[in-house]
Amino acid sequence: MGIRKIVIVGGGTAGWMTAAALSRLAQARAVEIVLVESELIGTVGVGEATIPPFINFQDRLGIDEAEMLAAVQGSFKLGIHFVDWERQGDSYFHPFGNYGYAVDSVSFHEIWMRYRMAGDERPLHHFSPETMMAMHRRFMHQAEGEDLPAINYAYHIDATAYARFLRRYAEGRGVVRKEGKIVSSDLHGESGFVRSVTLDDGTEIAGDFFVDCSGFRGLLIENALETGYEEWTHWLPCDRAVAIPSAGDGTVLPYTRATAHSAGWQWRVPLQTRNGNGHVYCSQFMEADEATDILLKNIDGEALADPNHLRFVTGRRKKFWNKNVVAIGLSGGFMEPLESTSIHLIQSAISKLAGMLSLDGITEAQQDTFNRLLGKEFSRIRDFLILHYKATSRDDSEFWNYCRTMSIPDTLEEKIEMFRLNGQVFREEDELFAETSWVAVMMGQGIVPSRPSAMAHTLDLGKLRSEYEGMDQSIKYLVSKAKPHDQYLADYCPTAIAAE
Ligand code: FAD
Repeated sequence: MGIRKIVIVGGGTAGWMTAAALSRLAQARAVEIVLVESELIGTVGVGEATIPPFINFQDRLGIDEAEMLAAVQGSFKLGIHFVDWERQGDSYFHPFGNYGYAVDSVSFHEIWMRYRMAGDERPLHHFSPETMMAMHRRFMHQAEGEDLPAINYAYHIDATAYARFLRRYAEGRGVVRKEGKIVSSDLHGESGFVRSVTLDDGTEIAGDFFVDCSGFRGLLIENALETGYEEWTHWLPCDRAVAIPSAGDGTVLPYTRATAHSAGWQWRVPLQTRNGNGHVYCSQFMEADEATDILLKNIDGEALADPNHLRFVTGRRKKFWNKNVVAIGLSGGFMEPLESTSIHLIQSAISKLAGMLSLDGITEAQQDTFNRLLGKEFSRIRDFLILHYKATSRDDSEFWNYCRTMSIPDTLEEKIEMFRLNGQVFREEDELFAETSWVAVMMGQGIVPSRPSAMAHTLDLGKLRSEYEGMDQSIKYLVSKAKPHDQYLADYCPTAIAAE
């Protein structure tokens, strides 16, 4: 059966990102695309921190960066500052980009370890341009006219404003939006494919292919097709969040802050005129009232709304693509927001779908490939997230005692063992998080290699010295050339929306 009409169910970040990305098909009149959403139900509306690949999403759509950032109160993000994770009072920075650069195929962090063993006291983060820029609260895209690498960054965005921005984009290219609450769906008797959805006013919307972006509900992928869910709460035990925006104080930090508390952690995401804040916690160890109190005590600036309480179950749908339904966004799974990976997984699913979609129909091979590739991506990200909870010496609460002693997936166990042995990180296929990320979090949370690898010991430190100093100097120079982040935003993309 050919595909002539695509129905996107849901208009949150996932729904409008999908609509925007597929809108070329509508513009070329290759298919009809309809998006159904319900203002009564609304969206999750958090999801404000992103990671660098998100920039490619705007590029592919031909979206002007400054225009988009102005429309969504956007700010730049150079990484995440983790506070109190390994032990209370400790902190570290997980930067985008790399530490220094490799020499003769030896990773920079191993070269650094050798200098460190020889008495050089500079910390590893001195060799990360993004960390140093973040610490000085500065930003720039690239030093003009210089032969120095570009800065790696992502954005903080107002997720609701971003969905509105993409809605204008997609509707301008032929996607049709229908307002209404879906109350039922109808399946083909023989194939079990979804045939149509029905709104509360009785309108029936039929389609050949459905993208389920209905959020945690999973209206089609679960309610209609009963696909099943693989739960990961034993590894990622947080299952609640309480979120609240607060007034900004005029300083917009170019990084996210993630502060560990006694049964979870708190985010602070700086936008141009306000901060997004939230406390992610485990309901087995903390009540909602206590979680809200902790959040309110730890926000900078006046609260701008009532606390918004959310529930979730960490894990993933057993199949993301089932029959003629693809689940994208929270309907496909959720692994908690610690490393801002959800919007990335939406983007990744969309790019796979856009590549695999054939208007001639749906095959088993498409479904299997999509499910396998996205499944692997979920698992690798899952391991990286678990690492943050497992690698701790905190013993000040039942929650941390559980996390510190829980069993972890073999894949993660192996990664930690390899790093402890001689500082090596091996990237599995095209997994999202690269060496710097693993090194930053492992070292930041107390997993220290016993020695650098055998190959690292073959390097002559004396000969390398001027190159090593050169890296340090270049980073200092880059930071000196960057502008204060607030000023950069005011010049480049001043917000077009008022503070709430
Ligand atoms: P939703 O936003 O829930 O949208 C669902 C849509 O479906 C809505 O339009 C709704 O109206 C519609 N709908 C549902 N039922 C019906 C119905 N019956 N009829 C009609 N329409 C219907 N991600 C990041 O990348 N970075 C972060 O920093 C981050 N922080 C997060 C913090 C928390 C606490 C949570 C819970 C998530 C966070 N995420 C983050 C994830 C991010 O919010 C989501 O991935 C993103 O918002 C996509 O959500 P969605 O579009 O899948 O679902």
